[in-house]
Amino acid sequence: MRLVLLGAPGAGKGTQAKMLIEKYGIPQISTGDILRKAVADGTPLGKAAKAVMDRGELVPDKVVLDLVEERLKQDDCKKGYILDGFPRNTAQAETLDKMLQGLGMPLDSALSVDVPKDDLLKRLTGRRTCKNCQQMYNIYFSPPKKDNVCDKCGGELFQRDDDKEETIKKRLDVYEAQTAPLMDYYGKKGILKSIQGVGTIDEIFNKVCAALEGK
Ligand code: AMP
Repeated sequence: MRLVLLGAPGAGKGTQAKMLIEKYGIPQISTGDILRKAVADGTPLGKAAKAVMDRGELVPDKVVLDLVEERLKQDDCKKGYILDGFPRNTAQAETLDKMLQGLGMPLDSALSVDVPKDDLLKRLTGRRTCKNCQQMYNIYFSPPKKDNVCDKCGGELFQRDDDKEETIKKRLDVYEAQTAPLMDYYGKKGILKSIQGVGTIDEIFNKVCAALEGK
């Protein structure tokens, strides 16, 4: 399976990607996760990206394209991959197509997870992540048993800097203007599938699998 996950920030792409990894045994490539790791490690790339990310804007195309190309060349991607949060605009999508053609591993699906805007806001402001194992929670919908403590590993939970209210609005605007047009892009290629990303996580996952398996 060679898949792009599309959807607004907060649509649940990361959560669904993690479940797809388990089911299909293919890696998730999340440009947001790669960038956040670079920020946490204090690399030159991380230092350059942090301010842009905190403003809710997109980091330059060349930066993410290089990161993705390097990752796709690793052996574990030979059996398939899930691109999450990439591409984010038409220029990235076009370059990705050429890159994948060159690597002999073209996309077979683009899956859009559609969620109403009001739900997105609550999902983003309520989102918390474990510092240790990256397990995700939502203080409104799926809170941890104990405040700020991961149920799985006991790690401390944190809120992403860009999940603060002022940045969220900007991220949603950037999504509408730059990323939403990708639905059309993949629709025209005949590989777009869409599901409504509402309901429980397991219900959404069932819809995701049914769409991908053509049921
Ligand atoms: P995400 O976790 O996918 O919501 O990404 C968090 C932030 O990382 C975004 O708001 C951007 O600043 C940056 N980012 C992630 N993926 C990309 C991408 N494909 N192109 C440009 N910037 C990105």
